[in-house]
Amino acid sequence: KIPKTEVIIVGAGFSGIAAAKKLFEAGISFKILEARDRIGGRVYTNYLKEDLYVDLGGQWIGPTQDRMYELCKEYGISYFETYDEGKNILNLRGKIRTYKGIIPKMDPVSLINLDILMRKMERMARQINVHTPWSHPKAQKWDQLTLEDFLRKNSKTKSCYEVIKIGCETIFACELHEISLLHALFYIRSGKSLDCLINIQGGAQQHRIEGGMQRIAEAMATPFRDHIIFNSPVEKVIQSTDHTDVISGENRFSSNRVILAVPPPLLKKIHFEPGLSSEKSELLDNYAMGRVGKCFMIYQTPFWREDSFSGQVVSDDPLTHQTLFDCSTVDGKYGILMGFTIGNRADEYFGRSEEDRKKRMISQLVQYFGEKAKDPIQYIDFTMSDETWSQGCYAGLMPVGAWTTWREAYRKPEGNLHFAGTEAATVWHGYIEGAVRAGEAAALEIIKKKNKEEA
Ligand code: FAD
Repeated sequence: KIPKTEVIIVGAGFSGIAAAKKLFEAGISFKILEARDRIGGRVYTNYLKEDLYVDLGGQWIGPTQDRMYELCKEYGISYFETYDEGKNILNLRGKIRTYKGIIPKMDPVSLINLDILMRKMERMARQINVHTPWSHPKAQKWDQLTLEDFLRKNSKTKSCYEVIKIGCETIFACELHEISLLHALFYIRSGKSLDCLINIQGGAQQHRIEGGMQRIAEAMATPFRDHIIFNSPVEKVIQSTDHTDVISGENRFSSNRVILAVPPPLLKKIHFEPGLSSEKSELLDNYAMGRVGKCFMIYQTPFWREDSFSGQVVSDDPLTHQTLFDCSTVDGKYGILMGFTIGNRADEYFGRSEEDRKKRMISQLVQYFGEKAKDPIQYIDFTMSDETWSQGCYAGLMPVGAWTTWREAYRKPEGNLHFAGTEAATVWHGYIEGAVRAGEAAALEIIKKKNKEEA
């Protein structure tokens, strides 16, 4: 049995690390138990060479993600603009067109329809209170509809439906029948607006981190690195009146309080004594995760820029990626195109051999950017859905009926247990910013309780 610390944090993703940072600053003793041999969780920077890296998990930040910019400032970490110049490509029903700006070139009826639909979603999302989405007068109705139901009903043309569908798939990383309309509206409001979630300039994709996103978590953890115990998956949490034991393999850690900063499917796997509340358990039984894979084609140079392409593509081709972005190195030395495969397309894509996946992506890129796309220096892809300690991404999905049935059950403390992770966030839910805020909020709950007890 390991001697008592005040707090055990389960999970060293951004949320667990942010909680630890707050406790460290408040002088409260803690340990972090992490199942993997690294920190960062759903953020994972892979260095292929000294001057070449790719972010296999979360990578972008944007305006109103205030904590992320503050952390960059605190640790002297630079960020840079996502490349966003030139022509974008729309591949719809096998027809490839170019366009400038955010809205793809379509027939006028589809364009007007898309504009009306997006404004309607913005209006509805603005009415949601992110702390209590179930309290909206139409919450019951919106929670019984899937996002797909809503988009089909409000799309008068096939092109409008297909474009908004691809946009939403990229935002939520799932099939659109897997989430309720209420969850979609909450998520949009939580990230400010639909425009903000979609856009590069002024939106959630505006900046990338020099040296990769994992760098920020590493910098945050530097002062308390020795408090992290790696390769320690937590299996059991046993609460008694005066302490709580956390069990990982042969080790038993004793503490006053526990912060759980793991994704929902992993929280469900932990055995709790006494058991979690029926609301939390039922929610966990129904809490699925999104599915998305990131596929990187790396070139000697970002050659598409010379031909005035932005590298951005929106595509309904079921065999490849829904969206593509220019993810080249900050100095533009290496050219990198990154494609998202999402939902069923991700399942199908990652069911194939790596050789086949590479071939498919090259053939798409040749179609979009010409023969130069035939000669990459490397292909690499990755999906957190296959990872034992993530089991999906970007985040948990609230299905039909979940918000109005289980309300704030996920983030509500139970006894000595406090719940963090991006799924516990009200602001920038599903994003790294949300993970940080939820981690800090859980730590603050503990600090406040401690201050009260000592007063
Ligand atoms: P996690 O990062 O999942 O951390 C949980 C930790 O708990 C992990 O380290 C895990 O190993 C550990 N763990 C799990 N179970 C146990 C256990 N039983 N015992 C001990 N440890 C355990 N967000 C953005 O803001 N911008 C983006 O551009 C962006 N893009 C994304 C792209 C992809 C492909 C993915 C996967 C995610 C993306 N996201 C993005 C979402 C963002 O990465 C997540 O919201 C955020 O990293 C979640 O952090 P977390 O700390 O809540 O959870």
